[in-house]
Amino acid sequence: MNDRAALNPDTFPEPSTLEVLILPHDLRKRVTQIAEAISHDYANEVVWLVGVLKGAFMLTSDLARNLTIPCQIHFVQASSYGSGKESSGQVQLDNTLDVSGQHVVLIEDIYDTGNTLKRVLRDLRQQNPASLEVCTLLDKQGSEKHPVEVKYLGFEIPKRFVVGYGLDYAERYRELPYIACLD
Ligand code: 5GP
Ligand code: MG
Repeated sequence: MNDRAALNPDTFPEPSTLEVLILPHDLRKRVTQIAEAISHDYANEVVWLVGVLKGAFMLTSDLARNLTIPCQIHFVQASSYGSGKESSGQVQLDNTLDVSGQHVVLIEDIYDTGNTLKRVLRDLRQQNPASLEVCTLLDKQGSEKHPVEVKYLGFEIPKRFVVGYGLDYAERYRELPYIACLD
């Protein structure tokens, strides 16, 4: 993408013009509740938070700082979207972790088709973790989904294309402290 496209308001509208779906206050409240649930469920353990880059970086760090139990923080890199708004269905995974014998909470930004979660879960399961659960900030309603059991869920959202709080469009908007719609 050239510099002109990167600055074009038709391609990348000003954040202040976007429809806000979830406010910072509501994100904070829900993430704190999830951190409390994880702290409770893994009391006396060291939990491994495994975030899926890049979308889950903000959720992973906010969860970590609200835990009241010890944790390790790790990331795997998965991408299925490229720079468009529709899932390509092809998941690229870069995972050099070894989670064998660990209590793992896999952290994803959004459960849309479940392609990404299914792929990462398969990979992690093969390494025989002591336990493996899924946390996702958003669950997009109305998508055709691979069934995935989500233990810790932030919010159900309508079938919109959203950005912010880690989620991007062509690498933009990840820094927004709220979730907004781009469609
Ligand atoms: P899935 O594999 O479940 O179809 O999609 C999961 C991945 O697609 C997410 O990790 C996220 O990167 C991307 N994705 C799905 N829906 C959206 C959306 O509404 N906005 C953004 N920015 N990314 C999305
Ligand atoms: Mg993602």
